[in-house]
Amino acid sequence: MRLPDGSSIVSSPVASTLVLGDNDAVLVDPPFTYEQIDRVRDWIARSGMRLAYIYATHGHGDHWFGADRIMRRFPGATAYATETTIAMMHQQSTVGRAQRWDVDFPGLIPESPVVFEPIPARGFTLEGRQCQAVGVGHTDTNDTTVLHVASIGLMVAGDIAYSGVHQYLLESRGGGIQAWLAALDIETEAVTAEVTEWFFEDYLPTWVGVGKAADDGPGFILDYWGVPLYDYHPDGGQWALDGDSVTGRLNITHTRLRANGYAYTEVVDRSVRLYHRNGAAIEVIWSRRRADDTEIERLAVHFEVIHTQNGWRIAAIQRRFTHAESLSDAWAAADDEDLR
Ligand SMILES: [Zn+2]
Repeated sequence: MRLPDGSSIVSSPVASTLVLGDNDAVLVDPPFTYEQIDRVRDWIARSGMRLAYIYATHGHGDHWFGADRIMRRFPGATAYATETTIAMMHQQSTVGRAQRWDVDFPGLIPESPVVFEPIPARGFTLEGRQCQAVGVGHTDTNDTTVLHVASIGLMVAGDIAYSGVHQYLLESRGGGIQAWLAALDIETEAVTAEVTEWFFEDYLPTWVGVGKAADDGPGFILDYWGVPLYDYHPDGGQWALDGDSVTGRLNITHTRLRANGYAYTEVVDRSVRLYHRNGAAIEVIWSRRRADDTEIERLAVHFEVIHTQNGWRIAAIQRRFTHAESLSDAWAAADDEDLR
């Protein structure tokens, strides 16, 4: 058997990925032998990019031992991994090296201090584009991840997906293969992460920003709410059939909140359920508050969200005032109960 490029197999092959922006780059999964590392270092240098970040998809040493040697040549880089990956790195760089890596590759692997820090929950940005770790559980080892760059539809899959070579199955006893097969449904996780980020990191802060300061007209909402829009609340449902009608609905809410000193929205509870690649349900309990943290109003909202050629849009809203702390309590009340 040979590698996809025709060369002979020495060990399970490693793929390192360089994601390029206009000036900055992210290296995903640095390799582990001196020879491989130096080839990757030259590759980065030839790209002319500033190496801003390194990301390791999982803890296996062949996907990160070279990080320190790469950072010595590109000292401005920050190395990220998830906390569970970092925990496994400490095992791999000590016991793992002694029992396996330095036995199979004696003298070929440089010092491998764990130079990684925990990736923030929201990931990091490369020139404004969000790069997010998506955990997929056990694949070729435990707690593996992919790096997802939703804005360009990129998923760097590490050892979750192999190309033309036999998978590394040594850690897949006791249900590991089933877990791995489930992880291959990664698109679901990645799209869920994408719509979640759009809703909570883009839509919500924009809505709050306009709501509290009115430094932008209500027209921005047409970047988030679809036309027509169906809006249901216990007093009845209504269609907003054109753009003016949609922005008018928002204006009523924002005007009411501004009159009450609105400053921000606290998310009391939330749930995101993906139906398929192009549709999701997002539910929240919004607590709309003043700057002194007192609550103006609290409501449970169900959003039907669809993916259009212009991106994600809210197509329908179901909302009700509530006192509840959880979505299940909020929705349990009958429509005709006094919900305020
Ligand atoms: Zn691996």
